[in-house]
Amino acid sequence: MADKHYSFFEGVVKNFDKAAPYSELTEGLLEQIKACNSIFAMKFPVRLNDGGDVEVIEAYRVQHSNHRMPTKGGIRFSMDVNQDEVMALAALMTYKCAVIGVPYGGAKGGVKIDPKKYSVEQLERITRRYTAELVRKNFIGPGLDVPAPDYGTGPREMAWIMDTYMTLKHGEMDGAGCVTGKPVEQNGIVGRAEATGRGVFYGIREALSYEDDMKKIGLTTGTQGKTMVIQGMGNVGSHTGLISIAEGGIKVIGVAEYEGSIHNPDGIDIAALLEFRKKTGSIVGFPGTTTLEHRGAALELECDILVPAALENQINADNASKIKAKIIAEAANGPVTPEAEEVLLKRGCLIIPDMYINAGGVTVSYFEWLKNLSHSTFGHMEKRFTSNRYNNMVDLILQMTGKELSPAQRALLTNGADELDLVRSGLEESMIQAYQGIRKTWQADPNIPDLRTAAFVYAIKKIGADYLAMGIWP
Ligand code: GLU
Repeated sequence: MADKHYSFFEGVVKNFDKAAPYSELTEGLLEQIKACNSIFAMKFPVRLNDGGDVEVIEAYRVQHSNHRMPTKGGIRFSMDVNQDEVMALAALMTYKCAVIGVPYGGAKGGVKIDPKKYSVEQLERITRRYTAELVRKNFIGPGLDVPAPDYGTGPREMAWIMDTYMTLKHGEMDGAGCVTGKPVEQNGIVGRAEATGRGVFYGIREALSYEDDMKKIGLTTGTQGKTMVIQGMGNVGSHTGLISIAEGGIKVIGVAEYEGSIHNPDGIDIAALLEFRKKTGSIVGFPGTTTLEHRGAALELECDILVPAALENQINADNASKIKAKIIAEAANGPVTPEAEEVLLKRGCLIIPDMYINAGGVTVSYFEWLKNLSHSTFGHMEKRFTSNRYNNMVDLILQMTGKELSPAQRALLTNGADELDLVRSGLEESMIQAYQGIRKTWQADPNIPDLRTAAFVYAIKKIGADYLAMGIWP
C-alpha cells in the first residue's frame, strides 16, 4: 500500500523537488522537466470470444518527456494500473534514461487487466488492439515512442506488438525498432532477458568497490561473501540472484514472494529454487529453507543487501523501521516510499535508487533498437577478423618462446567478441560510468543528502542542458 500522504507520482515529484535546488536551473525549466508532456488514456473494446460480447479495456500510454526522441518505457499488464501509476513510471523512465546515458525521453504504458485471467489468444487480441490504438494516435514508432516489457508482459507480447505495427505500417524500413524486448529470433537481442538483473549486479558491485563509502555503512569492499535478500523471483529478481551468486560470490539468504518468505542463512540455490517453483507453483517448502511467519518477513532479515524486485511501495511507513539491510538496491521501480526513505536514511542505510540500479533493461533495449536500425548483428563484421589477428599474434609468441597453450587458454586469448559479449560489455560500461557520474555529483556538493537526490541532480542537469541547448520553439 502507498503511504497515506502521497500517490506514487507525487512521491516521484517529492524526490524531484528535493533535488531541484541543487540543479541550478530556473523554476520554469524545472516545472517543464517535471511535468508529463502527453497522457493518452484510452478505453477500447475487445471481443474475447468469436461471436461473444465485447469487454471494455482501460489502458494508458504516458510520454513524460519529449526532450529526446523517441520516448521509451515498458508496458505493464496489471489490475493495479491507473493513470497516476503510469505517470510515475513514465517520469522515472525520463530520469533513468538520462542517468544511464541513453538518448530517450521517458514513457510508460499500462493495460488494466489480470493477465492470468485470459487465454493466450485473448491476451493476443488485447495486445494487438492496444497497439492499434497507439498507432492511431501516433504513440508508437521507432522514432516516436518505443515500448518494452514490464510487469506482466514479456517477449511474447513484444512480438505481437511488432507484428501489429509492421502490418499497419507495411514497408516501413525501421519498423522492427518500434518495440524492444522482442524474442531473439524476432529481431530481438541476446542478453535482453537477463539485462536488468545483470545491471543490478554490476551496480551493486560498483557501489561496493568504494572503501570510503562502505566504511560509512559498516561494510568491507567487494561482493564476495556478502549476504542478500531478494523480494520477487520474476525476471529481474531471479537473474539478479543467479548472477550475484555465480559472478559475485554473494550468498542469497532470503527470498520473499507472493506466496511467502523463505530463509536459509547458509545460502539458497536460486537455480534449484526456480526449478522447484516451476514444479510446485510456490517457493514455500523449498528443501533446506525455513518458512517465515508472514509474506514480507524476508525483507526484515539481517543482511548486507536487500533487493526489492517486485512492485512499488513495498517498503513503506509500516515496515521501514523493521528493515535491517545496510544497502537497498531498488531493482523494482519505486519500491521505497518517501516516508520509508526518511526512516532508512536516518539509520544510515545506503539506498541505490531505481532510476540507476534497474537501468540495465533500458540500456540493452537501446542496443536492440540500434541493432534494428542498423539491420545487422553486433560483432558480425569483426568477430573473425579479431580472432584471426589474435591467433596470428599468439602463434608468433609461441614460436618465439617455444611454449605451448591448452585449447582453453588459446580460446580465452583469441576468441572474437560475439553479440552477447558486446551486449554485456556495453551494459557493464554503462552501469559503471553512470555510478561514477552520480557519485561525483554527490561528492561535489556536500549539501546533497543522499544517493537518490544525487542521481536526480545528475539527471535533471543533463535534461536541463538539453533544453537550454535546443531552446523552446515557438
Ligand atoms: N520496463 C523496463 C523499465 O522499467 C524497461 C524499459 C525499456 O526497456 O524500455 O526500465
